Amino acid sequence: MFKKVLLILGLCLALAFSNVFAVSDTDVPILLYHNIAENYNAEDNLLHITPERFKEHMQALNNAGYTSISYKDYQNYVKGLGEIPEKSIIVAFDDGYLSNYTYAFPILKEFGMKAAIFIVTGSVDNDKTVYPHFGYAQAKEMLDSGLIEIGSHTHSHRSFKDLSYEETVTELRKSKYLIEQNLGINCNLLAYPYGFDNDWTTNEAIKAGYEVVNIVGDTGTNRRSDGLYTLKRLTVSGHLTPDELIAMIEENRAK
Ligand SMILES: [Zn+2]
Repeated sequence: MFKKVLLILGLCLALAFSNVFAVSDTDVPILLYHNIAENYNAEDNLLHITPERFKEHMQALNNAGYTSISYKDYQNYVKGLGEIPEKSIIVAFDDGYLSNYTYAFPILKEFGMKAAIFIVTGSVDNDKTVYPHFGYAQAKEMLDSGLIEIGSHTHSHRSFKDLSYEETVTELRKSKYLIEQNLGINCNLLAYPYGFDNDWTTNEAIKAGYEVVNIVGDTGTNRRSDGLYTLKRLTVSGHLTPDELIAMIEENRAK
């Protein structure tokens, strides 16, 4: 009897471990958007997309069988704490434009899609710029939907290439602190402005408490074996038709 129990226990353990370790290494593309605008100069297509085109993009992802996942989902996947769908995708926005709240958020809600917005804490609620930025109240509303994550895109959006060690540390820590104080969350997501970093940046980001770090990259996708500190993102041109978007994603998944 005792032997039988041991055998069953052994089998259960083997099964449990096989679930943990026999995991796939799905490649996950991260799409990077910025502002959403009704009109924009054609040459600024890497910074803007119209609301109509953005909606077409989200529809195209759905039609192609992609499931939007959160960074938290991806983090759990990389750590071996959860699985993700074979065709997973992450939708990200940089800079924290008000248009993300006005246009993208309702569209994402309509499709039940997840996204992450990396905000520049020094620009929160700034409506003095050509393209205004949303405030903490809007950020909170989006967070509360369960669809949106908020991460740091530093405090002043200066390139780390131009900053001293001390300035880098301040940018990393100040933005994290302000997000946590104003939104009551643990902010562990970071995206480097312009995608640039210095030798010490990742180390300081980890020391500051970030667990997921995004570069830009603009090529390829992400795999569990790549870890969480150099996530590559594909900047999406507002010019891409839905078919071109899917083709661009497939091309990068094949790299
Ligand atoms: Zn930016």
